[in-house]
Amino acid sequence: MVLGSPFGRRLLLLFIGSALVPTLLVAVLSFQSVRSQLATQSEDRLHATANSIQRVVYDRLETVDADLRRNGASLVRCAGGAADSECGDELTYPFPAAALYDPATGTVRALVGNLTAATAALPFPKIAGGSSAVVGDLVGGKPRLIMLHHIAVPGGDGPILIGELSLDFLWTPADADMLPESILFAWIDPAAGILAAKGESPRLGGETAGLLGSAPSGGFEWSGAHESYLAAYRSFPMSRRLQLPAWRVVASESTRQVLAPMADFTKIFPLLLILGVVVVAGFALSQIRRSLVPLMVLQRGTRRVTGQDFDTRVEVTSGDEFEELAASFNAMAGQLGRQFRSVTTAAEIDRAVLSSVDRATIVDTALKRLPELVPCEALGIALLDGADGAATGLGWWANGTGRVEPAGQTIIFSPADLSSLRARDEQLVYRPDRSVPKFVADIIRGGSGTINVLPLRFGGVLFGAMAVRRGAGAGSDSADLTQIGRLADHVAVALSNARMVDRVKFLAFYDNLTGLPNRMLYKERLTQALQRAARSRRHVAVCFLDLDHFSAINDTLGHDLGDQLIRDVAARLSVCCRETDTISRLVGDCGQPEVSRLGGDEFTVVLPDLTDAQDAGRVARRILDCFGEPFRLGTNEMYVSTSIGIAVYPEDGHTIEDLVKNADVAMYHAKENGRNTCRLYSPAMNSEAMGRMRLDQQLRRAVDAGQFAMVYQPIVNTQLGTVVGAEALVRWNHPERGLLSPGEFISLTEESGLIVRLGEWILRTVCAQGKVWADQGLGPLRLSVNLSGRQLQRPDIVDLIREILGETKLPPRSLVLELTESVLMQPDSPVAASIQALAALGVQFAIDDFGTGYSSLSYLKHFPADTLKIDRSFITDVLTDPDDAAITCAVIALGKALGISVVAEGVETEEQAAYLAQSGCQLIQGYFVGQPMPPEEFAAFFPVLGSRLRAGMTAVPG
Ligand code: C2E
Ligand code: CA
Ligand code: CA
Repeated sequence: MVLGSPFGRRLLLLFIGSALVPTLLVAVLSFQSVRSQLATQSEDRLHATANSIQRVVYDRLETVDADLRRNGASLVRCAGGAADSECGDELTYPFPAAALYDPATGTVRALVGNLTAATAALPFPKIAGGSSAVVGDLVGGKPRLIMLHHIAVPGGDGPILIGELSLDFLWTPADADMLPESILFAWIDPAAGILAAKGESPRLGGETAGLLGSAPSGGFEWSGAHESYLAAYRSFPMSRRLQLPAWRVVASESTRQVLAPMADFTKIFPLLLILGVVVVAGFALSQIRRSLVPLMVLQRGTRRVTGQDFDTRVEVTSGDEFEELAASFNAMAGQLGRQFRSVTTAAEIDRAVLSSVDRATIVDTALKRLPELVPCEALGIALLDGADGAATGLGWWANGTGRVEPAGQTIIFSPADLSSLRARDEQLVYRPDRSVPKFVADIIRGGSGTINVLPLRFGGVLFGAMAVRRGAGAGSDSADLTQIGRLADHVAVALSNARMVDRVKFLAFYDNLTGLPNRMLYKERLTQALQRAARSRRHVAVCFLDLDHFSAINDTLGHDLGDQLIRDVAARLSVCCRETDTISRLVGDCGQPEVSRLGGDEFTVVLPDLTDAQDAGRVARRILDCFGEPFRLGTNEMYVSTSIGIAVYPEDGHTIEDLVKNADVAMYHAKENGRNTCRLYSPAMNSEAMGRMRLDQQLRRAVDAGQFAMVYQPIVNTQLGTVVGAEALVRWNHPERGLLSPGEFISLTEESGLIVRLGEWILRTVCAQGKVWADQGLGPLRLSVNLSGRQLQRPDIVDLIREILGETKLPPRSLVLELTESVLMQPDSPVAASIQALAALGVQFAIDDFGTGYSSLSYLKHFPADTLKIDRSFITDVLTDPDDAAITCAVIALGKALGISVVAEGVETEEQAAYLAQSGCQLIQGYFVGQPMPPEEFAAFFPVLGSRLRAGMTAVPG
């Protein structure tokens, strides 16, 4: 474990290092010191030995010298002639051979033994009388010492005794035995070499020689054949009486022996060292382990915390700082764990709250789970109903144990509550001594303690408020308050999302304008109704409603009022289907009629669970009745009718697609049958619908194919008997069906927008024709052209008419534009501006079908009308129906009052013409005067006209 940890390894190394280094240092130092002591001791010993050797030799030489001095005279005498035997005896102890040399005569006389002849050749030193000298040399490879003594004789120089010294006399084996055993020695003569020795001797020469020569005594080391040695040397004293060569006595001792006392130590020391290391390492390991174990426990604990395990505690009982550290660590992990859990829980709650798009679920989640984060006794949420401005709402209450209940009563917010919730960013705190607002009391329900109220607000929208009572013990722990605040923010975000999702759902399934189900939802509900009907064997009726002339209304009123009308129609339809008794009764108890808007002015009513298919027709007629009342649009009132087509399941189709298609076909039939009516689908209708579609396609090609033609119906002044003008009416020369009148195609061109191109062609043709007639001198004629609302809607209509007038050179006054009342309803619309601009050009205006459209005449004040055309429906029965007569007379009077000319349309008989003339209306148009006719016929008509009129008028009385 210790060696596995780098820290452990480092510590171990430190321990061992700090134990070993001083030990080694001490060991080396003491080794050195002992060694040098041993060396010193050895040196002393060696010096003493060398000294004693030198002393022994020197003493003996001095004895010889003393003997020679004492016996010199007798020796001379001996040599002078005494018996040889006596003379030699005194000398034999030191000298095996001796002779006397007389320097004066140069003669040598032997005294003892036989001196080697070469002796005489020795370089003798100069010796004073009574003094001695020793000289060494090598003879035959063997060392030899010669002693010379100048024998002193009274009155002058005596002879010199030359004696060959016995080395055995100077240094005996017994002497050597006296020496310590271990010590070797050598007595060395510079010329003769080793005179006496024991054991190995240092080689003489080189360094050794230099050493020996430099000082009278000293020490050195030398290496022998197998060993090294410590050595000390000593030279002999110098004196005039006894001159000696530069002898040295060298005593040596083998280093091994000198250091022998250390040998054991050297052997034991490494063992001791190893033992030391082992002990230190053992101790170190145990110490390191004591630190490392808690360290590792802490390390593992840290890893667990990193791995989000905050519950396992680290166990350290070392009784030192590590234990304290572990305790702090455990405390920290616990704290971290709590914080982590609270963050995790908070995140989880946030996710749960934010992932919901349903108000009740959001509230439920928040109230159930907030107590997991912050201990609270009671909490509640009050939500404002609907829009931000509302002051009522729903409430929920929870007691902190996860049970959530609705407040059970409508929560009411006072204006003060609302403004404080809107204004305050932070929480509102109500201490127990402060009274809480009623809405808080309603959701918190009794109990006492501080209540925190938080606005639920996001993106500037207030959704409600959350209130939390945390009990009497709860302090103002800012972390708790932050959690509550954060949750409130997230609840607000979630509520905002929910509202957005509701809105999106609404947009996806409901019509934005009317709030009715849209096509998607309609199809879904219809599918369900069909499934139910299939099971219950009942009928489902699909009613298609299309407002009559809505595009004209929309074009002329402008889109705002058009939208308003659609909204009003939707409202009326809903109320009608819900509240009309017949309808409720017929539809039965299980199904409600479902009103949807499919787009534009198309609505549908689904009647589920019908027992009798025929009931559908009855319901449709009730619906038509509901349109009997006028609609109020701005300042005007207006009658709007609708056409209804009905298809019934299962008779008219089994699938939604079939039913919808067939109801549509039936609706077109209702339109063609004079509108404001309903038609039940029959299979025969389908072919007609196909016909309509074909016609529409053919119409699109007809303009380019030149299949349209204009006919002209004269307008005359009965008083003067003159043609004042003509109304231009379009005809379609259909390649298969022959001449078609506008009733069969104009509405189709209006729906498809083709009227714009067709209308341009009509204006151009009529203006060109007018110019031709003017050039032919057919009196000043005013040509009326019918202008549909859609055409007038064109932004370039003024430019177009100006351009056509310019091209054809027709005076503007000759052109009359016929507009219906519906077009004139909007005084401030772009249409009105175009009308004013055209009037400024000089173009005239007639109000067509006057009396059929609107009940208000206020528009006449703003509209520059030149002519009113009394609708044909009033003229037809003008002679028999007093109402029609009254209306006709009223219009004539109105025209007079406003200074506007009045034309009666559809005059078919002489009597009608006469009555009108009598009532003050001179301008008439109708079959009585002339049918609409092609232009060439119209020119020929003039002469005929005069006689016809004259004949007719004469019949009129008065
Ligand atoms: P309108 O403007 O009211 O035209 C008069 C209609 O009454 C014409 O039908 C005409 O033939 C018919 N009429 C005239 N005198 C009598 C009569 O004594 N008795 C009867 N029963 N009918 C009479 P037409 O030509 O079929 O036109 C129908 C409608 O088509 C017109 O009604 C007009 O609103 C529209 N229209 C015709 N031509 C055009 C056109 O060029 N442009 C546009 N936008 N609409 C046109
Ligand atoms: Ca007309
Ligand atoms: Ca008319």
